[in-house]
Amino acid sequence: MARLSNAKKRFLFYGGVLFGILALYAYQPNRFDLKPKPVPIPNPKVDPDSAKLFSPKARVLVVTAHPDDTEFYLGGILTKLAQKGAVVDEVVCTDGDKSYYLWENAAENRRVRRSEQVESAKGSHVRHVQFLGYPDGRLFPRQNVIDRIHEEVLKSNPDYVIAFDGEYPPRRYHRDHLNSGVAAFAAIKGTGVKWALLFATHAANYTVDVTDQWERQKQLIAMHRSQFSGEKLELIENMVESNANDDGERIGVSYGEGFHCVHLR
Ligand SMILES: [Zn+2]
Repeated sequence: MARLSNAKKRFLFYGGVLFGILALYAYQPNRFDLKPKPVPIPNPKVDPDSAKLFSPKARVLVVTAHPDDTEFYLGGILTKLAQKGAVVDEVVCTDGDKSYYLWENAAENRRVRRSEQVESAKGSHVRHVQFLGYPDGRLFPRQNVIDRIHEEVLKSNPDYVIAFDGEYPPRRYHRDHLNSGVAAFAAIKGTGVKWALLFATHAANYTVDVTDQWERQKQLIAMHRSQFSGEKLELIENMVESNANDDGERIGVSYGEGFHCVHLR
């Protein structure tokens, strides 16, 4: 057999390394947008009837991808909704089992993370948490996922749906987050939902002042002990705090949570 020239060997070696890196990137669920979708122009401020949202008259459904998303991204608004007496239900599309990593104990993760989500939801007076049980890291906005969320929307009958922004995500995002947002937005079509409040967005047009809720948000995040403890908890708190400070700046307060708010009817 003819021997490979050094140039060919180098080509095969570096080609193999590049292929390995690309395959690994495609396999794992985190994504990085080199060119994020531009913010719509104009992007005027919107008020989704805040007086009603933060009142006992509000019915709210929160749709997320994993246990802990609610407390990480929405601990402030969730606490505020609880304080104002709104009725809140949650749908969590996956159990956060991390089964895409071969070394993880998926069954144990599922059990622990569900119980942490139920406990933290109780802490925010959430009425009901529905787990859909789709595989973590492999959530796609297919018709069956949209239909299951649609069923939960009909059961909960909310005026407000809070979900990940599937259109204007941050530069670095988890694919499940984006896909749960795309599915949730499709699922509310033809229902009585009046407002979609889309979080983890770079196109915010509505910001909630959550300064008074910050201390409580830290407690809610810490309830997800399997995910955040010790130094990691501190790191996560700092990250959430820095995001909340940036969001708050838009409306001149210390802590805020930003949403891309869409009026549906
Ligand atoms: Zn998540």
